[in-house]
Amino acid sequence: MATGKAAKKRMINQHCSVCKKDFDMEVVDGGESNDVIWLKCPGCEGFLPYIAGGEKGVGADAGTEPSELAPEDLDSEERENAREYDESSEYEVDDVIYHRSWNDYGKVITKEELPGHRKTIIVNFVNQGKIRLLEGVT
Ligand SMILES: [Zn+2]
Repeated sequence: MATGKAAKKRMINQHCSVCKKDFDMEVVDGGESNDVIWLKCPGCEGFLPYIAGGEKGVGADAGTEPSELAPEDLDSEERENAREYDESSEYEVDDVIYHRSWNDYGKVITKEELPGHRKTIIVNFVNQGKIRLLEGVT
């Protein structure tokens, strides 16, 4: 009976640390899992996880991990061979990625599969720092 898509877009207002602005972001439907809600930033078109329940508190994210990527860590050959980021592609650890929206290069430091079969990579960008991106989106 129904029209398969009752697509009513949910929007959540959240701060994007890349754009350094608040946006009403579209919620990316992640299936039944409620563990992670993904938002798509209309500014940089990046995906970022919705931080449920709050700005501060929890204290989970105070980690200062010493894996900053310095521009000189990517030599010209690596930049030339960088793969342009595309959410439908898949990447390997140590792949060098070029993100066109940000004009930034980064190196894949780890891969994670999230509930809901959502594959992500954590990329250490030269300018943006560590950012989680989706991969293998079909
Ligand atoms: Zn953004």
